[in-house]
Amino acid sequence: MADEITANTELLTDLDRAIGDGDHGINMKRGLNGVLRQTDKLADISISKALQKIGTSLVMSIGGASGPLYGSLFIAMGKTAAETSMDLVHISRMAANGLAAVKKRGKSDVGNKTMLDVLGPVADALHEAAVKGALIPETLASVRSAADQGLESTRNMIAKKGRASFLGKRSMGHLDPGAQSSQLIVHAVCRSFEERLSFLADKPSATGYVGIVIVSHSADVARGTVNIARQMAGDEVPMAWCAGNPDRGLGTDVASIKKAIEQVLNPAGVAILVDLGGAETNSEMAIEMLPEEYRSQVVICNAPIVEGAVMAATESAGGGSLEEVRATAEELSP
Ligand code: ADP
Ligand code: MG
Repeated sequence: MADEITANTELLTDLDRAIGDGDHGINMKRGLNGVLRQTDKLADISISKALQKIGTSLVMSIGGASGPLYGSLFIAMGKTAAETSMDLVHISRMAANGLAAVKKRGKSDVGNKTMLDVLGPVADALHEAAVKGALIPETLASVRSAADQGLESTRNMIAKKGRASFLGKRSMGHLDPGAQSSQLIVHAVCRSFEERLSFLADKPSATGYVGIVIVSHSADVARGTVNIARQMAGDEVPMAWCAGNPDRGLGTDVASIKKAIEQVLNPAGVAILVDLGGAETNSEMAIEMLPEEYRSQVVICNAPIVEGAVMAATESAGGGSLEEVRATAEELSP
């Protein structure tokens, strides 16, 4: 990102000179090169902490209107990021939360001729790719084209936020400098994904194995069931469990079921196995509380919890689809 911005400092300065005060190139160069100097420290901490640190650093060093905005973007993405590995579903959630933070900080939205006109379409493209489980090359292509079209869309907009808004209609006919810097940043990130992850090119961008969630009234049963299924199916199948009601007694709880589903949610889908009656009702409610686009990716299997979990996990490990996983588990039902 720093290299890309440094190489294009003049371009950003010229754009900001046309509709602002001409400092955007210098601001961005100073901010990102400040981050570059911390590379060693950043490499030692989790992605979540690193992004938040980058955000704080950008707030301090970019200055202008764009410092707090880019800072909010990175801080919110860092807060959403997992401590360890992530897939596209997670990355798209990071983008969505980053976008929301910039909108809030800038009291602005897509359509006002700002960086949001790039960040908004990019977040949408990531979301779409995550929901359909797109491959990495396809995802990168749609992200890049969203950034390019978003940038170009600012040309004929009238600025409603930031310094350029003082020009009113005279802001038309110029690209927005913040949209241009966002487009450069998005391209830089895409390129570095491509360079480092080229070996992943033909793999789905998410795990690709149907996730399994065990919902029991008893933590001992749930934990034990996952252990057995894990021994049969191996480590690749994402599995999560939950048990107990909010008072830590026997029972089940909608919020913790939802959390367990979110831990393993991926485009291949999620199969839930439940024990006694309330577990099923609460699981149905937890599914309904998910964002709409994910609901059809989660099913409850009508199968005995232990045997069903083993069968479902084995089918998933063999690359079975959500429907195949469910059918295999349900072969056991009385
Ligand atoms: P300044 O306007 O203080 O000189 P910069 O030149 O560094 O700051 O950044 C200008 C860019 O910041 C604009 O091109 C626009 O993309 C972005 N921007 C300004 N105000 C807002 C806002 N309220 N919401 C979103 N983006 C904004
Ligand atoms: Mg400026």
